[in-house]
Amino acid sequence: MVLYSDEIIDEIRNSNDIVDVISQYVVLKRSGRNFFGLCPFHKEKSPSFSVSPDKQIFHCFGCGVGGNVIHFVSKIENLDFKSTLEMLAQRSGINLPLAENGQDAKRIKLKEQVYKINEFTAQYFHKNLYTTKAKQAQEYVKKRKLDNNTLQAFQIGFSTNYDELYKALKKQGFTDEEILASSLVSKSR
Ligand SMILES: [Zn+2]
Repeated sequence: MVLYSDEIIDEIRNSNDIVDVISQYVVLKRSGRNFFGLCPFHKEKSPSFSVSPDKQIFHCFGCGVGGNVIHFVSKIENLDFKSTLEMLAQRSGINLPLAENGQDAKRIKLKEQVYKINEFTAQYFHKNLYTTKAKQAQEYVKKRKLDNNTLQAFQIGFSTNYDELYKALKKQGFTDEEILASSLVSKSR
């Protein structure tokens, strides 16, 4: 997951001129508005690799590769998107908000886990309703004239023992921190 903001990504792209960057890998010659060179991504004898300083993009008429400066570095250095951004940020002296990023990553992961916990819990209690231990609840929904379609559509469920959900969630591999963050389980003495 890439956690850098669009603003930071734009700043990185704007501060790394594509002609400067590609010139470090490919000998470029100016021809009209564009630069041309031998494509580093396929074998060729006459240059079909073009770089546009106006549009800040590259394109190879031979093998079809193309994109902006981030795509180029990612491809030629064989780096993922995040590592490419870090490399280009360093090249142009941009400080990436690393500490804040780590916190963001943690917060986003926790939020994702809480969603998963809620989803699992709804299904878990719903399945519970159809077990033998839910007799009382089954009679109750019958009395309320709730048919199976309704029960399924609204994921009507049944909870028995006070710590069954906690145990089931632990069995799914969720951590105590994630489970407590969901507020579906609370801590007692
Ligand atoms: Zn090519």
